[in-house]
Amino acid sequence: MNSSASVSLPILLLLAALSSAQAYDFFYFVLQWPGSYCDTKQSCCYPTSGKPAADFGIHGLWPNNNDGSYPSNCDPSSGFDKSKVRGLLSSLQSNWPTLACPSNDGTNFWTHEWEKHGTCAESVFNEYSYFKTALDLKSSLNLLQSLQSAGIQPDGGYYGLKSIKDAIEQGTGYTPYIECNVDGSGNSQLYQVYLCVDSSGSQLIECPIFPRGKCNPQIEFPMF
Ligand code: 5GP
Ligand code: 5GP
Repeated sequence: MNSSASVSLPILLLLAALSSAQAYDFFYFVLQWPGSYCDTKQSCCYPTSGKPAADFGIHGLWPNNNDGSYPSNCDPSSGFDKSKVRGLLSSLQSNWPTLACPSNDGTNFWTHEWEKHGTCAESVFNEYSYFKTALDLKSSLNLLQSLQSAGIQPDGGYYGLKSIKDAIEQGTGYTPYIECNVDGSGNSQLYQVYLCVDSSGSQLIECPIFPRGKCNPQIEFPMF
C-alpha cells in the first residue's frame, strides 16, 4: 500500500475544507447619511446618475471577527466585474450611491467594497449575492422611517445620541452603533449606522462587539 497517498488524501480534504470555511464571525452592515459625508471640510461629489435621495445609503457589508479584528482584500484574483451585477445597477445607483470625488457612476465604490470586504465572504457569497444581500437588507430596514417615527428628522437640528439609538432599536429590533464625524464647523453629527448580521448574511443579530469611537451626547442630523 502506498502510505504517502493514504496520509495525504485526508490532509488534502482537511485543507480544502479549511480554505472554504468562513474566516470571520459576523458582518457589520454600515449605512451612511449623505448629508454628513457632504458637509465636512472635505465636501463631496454627486454620482453621475444625479443627486442621491435624502436617505441613508449603503456603505458596505463588512466581515468582522468577534475580537474586533477583520479580514480584508481576501482574493486578489476576484476583481469586481460589473457585468455580474448588471441586473442590480439601477438599485445600486439608488441605494448604494457614491459621494466621493471625482464624480463617477459608483463603480469605484462598489469595486472597493467588493475587493476589500466582499472577497472575504466568498465562502457564502458570490459578487451578485453579496450586493443583492446588502440591497435586500437595506430595504428591510427603513432606517430613516424609524428615526422619523420618533420625531428625529434630517433638519439640521440636534438630537440625543441615546434617542437616536433607541429609535433605531425600536424600528429594527437591534441595538445599532452610531459613528459620528464633524461638519465644516466642527460639530459632531450622525454619520454612519452599524447593524450586525449573522455570518450567513441572512438575519440581523445583536452585535458581538461594537466599534470604538466618540459622539457627543447631542449630535446634529444635517439636511441633505
Ligand atoms: P472602507 O471604509 O470601506 O474601507 O472604504 C471607503 C472607501 O470608499 C474610501 O476609499 C472612499 O474614498 C471610497 N468611497 C467612494 N464613495 C464613497 C462614499 O460615498 N462614502 C464613503 N464613506 N466612501 C466612499
Ligand atoms: P455610554 O456607554 O455611557 O452609553 O456612553 C459613553 C460615551 O460613549 C457616550 O458619551 C458616547 O460618546 C459614546 N457612545 C455610546 N454609545 C455610542 C455609540 O453607539 N456610538 C458612538 N460613536 N459613541 C457612543
